[in-house]
Amino acid sequence: MFKMSSKNQNINLKLLNEKGIKLSIKREDEIHPFISGNKYRKLKYNLTKAKEQHCHTLLSFGGAYSNHISALSYAGKKHGFKTIGIIRGEELGQDFAHLLQTNPTLRFAHENGMQFKFVSREMYRKKEKSDFLQDLKFEFGDFYLIPEGGTNALAVKGCQEILTSDDTEFDYICVSVGTGGTISGLINSASERQTILGFPSLKGAFLQEIIEEKTNKSENWKLMHSYHFGGYAKINEILISFINDFYQQTTIPLDPIYTGKMMFGIMDLIKKNFFERNSSILAIHTGGLQGIEGMNQRLIRKKLPLILDEKL
Ligand SMILES: *Cc1c(COP(=O)(O)O)cnc(C)c1O
Repeated sequence: MFKMSSKNQNINLKLLNEKGIKLSIKREDEIHPFISGNKYRKLKYNLTKAKEQHCHTLLSFGGAYSNHISALSYAGKKHGFKTIGIIRGEELGQDFAHLLQTNPTLRFAHENGMQFKFVSREMYRKKEKSDFLQDLKFEFGDFYLIPEGGTNALAVKGCQEILTSDDTEFDYICVSVGTGGTISGLINSASERQTILGFPSLKGAFLQEIIEEKTNKSENWKLMHSYHFGGYAKINEILISFINDFYQQTTIPLDPIYTGKMMFGIMDLIKKNFFERNSSILAIHTGGLQGIEGMNQRLIRKKLPLILDEKL
């Protein structure tokens, strides 16, 4: 179940030839149809630990379209755990039938047996506080806690397995950043001469410090803060058309929250000659494609163009 490896796919685009850059994408999005990309890596050692502790329930946190919540619900079902999702947005719980109709992420999690508790944004902010967790234990009984986005020390350990010995040839490793767990694993496992570039998908000034705490190197990585498109889950027509063009040219789908922003950033940096000629770049496709459907429903409401994927 947990044997995982993904292939590196070489990208052919005119810009890359012009600038003398080699770009490959590590297709972590393909390691599992439902527990895709980095979320699989992050859950691996946590599920083993929960089993060792004879814990039968996994509890975690996320937004209404969370890739982590989606992955956790399926992994929990597969491995015989009960799952509980604490979801940001009290109002979501008011009409549950309507919610399941309109939100494909939570519908999928519900179908996998996940139980939800919807909390206000104010309450959600207290999710790491011990009295809130105590209340949750009172309500749900004993559980194995997985933090928001799945990030903890065991998640970083799992993400250290993304890079393999075949990947040492690359000069740069690029990855999208949310809570910082995935990039921390890459930083720890990259070879000395490699540079890791992180592309935060949110305004994340706090990320530098968080990543420093989780890693054992300080020299070989850098966060590129100019590609969040206004904040977490914020997107615009420029990003949508970039994602669609990239899909048409490479047949590789990108998600709008994470990998789309990263790839936009990589291409922009290539255009601006950030990378020396003859550099080789490995971009990690961390998955997240389950989020496209939910994003498209919001785009329809906003009368914006849709993101193309295999289903359209
Ligand atoms: C969760 C997620 C990320 C961010 O990973 P972190 O470890 O939280 O930084 C990146 N890409 C995708 C597709 C994700 O789902």
